[in-house]
Amino acid sequence: MNIQTKTKRVFDTDAYIKEYDATVISCVRSEKEGFEGLFETVTDATIFSPEGGGQKSDVGFFDDIEVADVREEGEEIIHFLKSEVKPGETVTQKIDFDLRFKRMQNHNAEHLICGLIHARFGYDNVGFHLSENTDENGNLRIEAIMDVDGPIDTEALKEIELAANKAIAKNVPIYALLPSSEEAEKINFRSKLDIRENLRLVVIEGFDVCACCAPCLRSSSEIQLVKILDSMPHRGGMRLTLIAGLDAIGDYIFLHDENRQIMKMLSSERNNTAESVSNMLEKASASHEETVLLKKQITNLFTEKLVSRLKNDDKKINVFFAPSLDEVQSRNLINETAAGSMAVIAVMFAKNEGTYRFVIGKDENLKDISLNAIAKKMREELSARGGGSEQMVQGSVSAAEEDIVSFFDKLN
Ligand SMILES: [Zn+2]
Repeated sequence: MNIQTKTKRVFDTDAYIKEYDATVISCVRSEKEGFEGLFETVTDATIFSPEGGGQKSDVGFFDDIEVADVREEGEEIIHFLKSEVKPGETVTQKIDFDLRFKRMQNHNAEHLICGLIHARFGYDNVGFHLSENTDENGNLRIEAIMDVDGPIDTEALKEIELAANKAIAKNVPIYALLPSSEEAEKINFRSKLDIRENLRLVVIEGFDVCACCAPCLRSSSEIQLVKILDSMPHRGGMRLTLIAGLDAIGDYIFLHDENRQIMKMLSSERNNTAESVSNMLEKASASHEETVLLKKQITNLFTEKLVSRLKNDDKKINVFFAPSLDEVQSRNLINETAAGSMAVIAVMFAKNEGTYRFVIGKDENLKDISLNAIAKKMREELSARGGGSEQMVQGSVSAAEEDIVSFFDKLN
């Protein structure tokens, strides 16, 4: 059927109808890319809000047939059904109202914030979408991402957020208007486009009037709570991330729990966790400095020990066990002792469950011994891993100290 029909948009004026009986006008197998296997269905009326204005379509059922997507084409609303229905048949439309309600909370919160920003700064809303993410427990979280065309500092954003929450507490009505083009001329409203035909305005009484195609709440108190999560400069203006309603309450519960864990760990007061963390970081930084100093002193002690051993022992290839040293210390140990020693020095360090890590270096004047050849032999005879250059090789070896000692003795 190719007759253009105007679908009655039930959701435009009442977003709270969860079930509705509609008559099927047409139903054809879709040939659109991405919709293969679905049935494009038009009904005389619908409670399904189509995709548009930065928001996905409603989801739900026609009787027990799933509605996979809803799109708008001209004045028709096309429902993409998973199976076929017959023209003339009456179907009961059912939407996922919990999802719609969450979307309305976030969407109307965005209207409120935009309205307050417009009233204070005169900025326009130049971008909007609802970002929907499902966590690992299957919980959907919605955030509203909105762009305005001018800068706002952090302090002003806090004031806007407080003003929005006061407007929520005031419990003012929210409703949609469908003015004629003549009536529209007399109304002052926010809009991205200068359209007066088929206009739909969403009014938050006393705070905002904005052209919008999405379902809206009945009162500001249903937004419950709005929180500006993030703000950043964007194309000369600002991009704000908002969270509202049940999602904002969920976020508060989550953050309260995080804060409680920090309180417990740091034995701090509820409203003092940031200061406690800052104090802890200061302590950690001092303790880190102390550790670096102690490690240097330990390396120096090992250096003295190694120097005296190299003096008393004229072996060309030396292995030195320093299980408590880390990689940086071991490299420093070689750098401090190799020059002028005319020797190869292998340091076995960071012993962990029978595995040593090793680093091998040499006096650069010692040309007749190849470090890569030693590494190769270690791989073959000690099942070691690793390699490197002629200046330094490194890796790991799982072998007993006496086996490693006898391996290096044999090389001399
Ligand atoms: Zn809107």
